[in-house]
Amino acid sequence: MEIKIISVGSYEVNCVVVEDAGKAWIVDPGADADKIVACVAGMLATPVAILLTHAHFDHIGAIPALEKAWPGIHVVVHPGDAPVITHPFNQFPPDYPAIPRPSLLVTAPTPELLPPGMEIIETPGHTPGGICYYFPAQRLLLSGDTLFAGSVGRTDFPGGSFQRLKDSLVRLVALPDDVRVIPGHGEETTIGREKTSNPYLAN
Ligand SMILES: [Zn+2]
Ligand SMILES: [Zn+2]
Repeated sequence: MEIKIISVGSYEVNCVVVEDAGKAWIVDPGADADKIVACVAGMLATPVAILLTHAHFDHIGAIPALEKAWPGIHVVVHPGDAPVITHPFNQFPPDYPAIPRPSLLVTAPTPELLPPGMEIIETPGHTPGGICYYFPAQRLLLSGDTLFAGSVGRTDFPGGSFQRLKDSLVRLVALPDDVRVIPGHGEETTIGREKTSNPYLAN
């Protein structure tokens, strides 16, 4: 398995391309579809699905262009966040205009739509249907806007809940210390480093 991180859009979302055996999965394509298409082509991979950690505007903006580039591409989202995609609050024109509901939106993905061995950890709080993508064999966590280096996601958006976020963080703290964490924004970190330095994980 190989991964590439592409910083996309004015909110600098970490879009992650996961390649495995010639197939590619694109996590959080927030903007800059041309960069993402070029990255997948450069990896000589066939795109299988777009995976969303959550449906905020800064993580989904490139979906319409990617659906054009890759006809038939599936978009995987937790059912709790499916309504967020087209919610009127979920747009910031001109950089992030409203996007239509993806034509192949999947809330209950079959294993063939997901990278082999990947697990979904439900982490509501930042949004109602927030999830993290965990690769146990690679000791890798794509944490979306749930966990950042030194911080956690805001919970003051519609549908957010600090209590639910705290419960979600307990599940992430239970992962091995050496798990590499790539958040939705900013620098990467590890579970061990966050356990000792992130004030939100201290108790
Ligand atoms: Zn977010
Ligand atoms: Zn974000």
